[in-house]
Amino acid sequence: MNDCLFCKIEKGEIPSFKIYEDDFVFAFLDIDPKSEGHTLIIPKKHTLDLQSIEKDSLLAILEAAKKVMNLLSQKLPVDGFTIMQNNGAAQEVKHFHLHVIPYYTNTKEKRTPEEIHALITK
Ligand code: AMP
Repeated sequence: MNDCLFCKIEKGEIPSFKIYEDDFVFAFLDIDPKSEGHTLIIPKKHTLDLQSIEKDSLLAILEAAKKVMNLLSQKLPVDGFTIMQNNGAAQEVKHFHLHVIPYYTNTKEKRTPEEIHALITK
């Protein structure tokens, strides 16, 4: 969709901190993270929400979530994860996205997405 923020991010028209990509999905750091490494995973094909996403896209998103969780666990002192997905009035950006939010028991660090991206991709 022409005016969709996340379609523009996936096409590279708007910059993002990409951490994973395959034929079906694109994953990038949330610009306003709830914790270090907070990642959004989107289908490349524009899709609104959980009710409208196709089964194959959903499976690709979940497979990517496992890879993103493994990557974040290797690079950051993660103690767990919260997976979140908003719909309808609860959904700010109208392109399906799965939030992968690391949980930390102890860390007090508050590095920027730019710093976290450099750490994860080095
Ligand atoms: P939701 O309420 O589930 O639609 O969440 C939308 C998320 O997108 C929020 O956590 C925002 O911080 C995030 N977001 C909005 N704009 C950008 C952007 N340009 N790059 C990365 N994340 C963004």
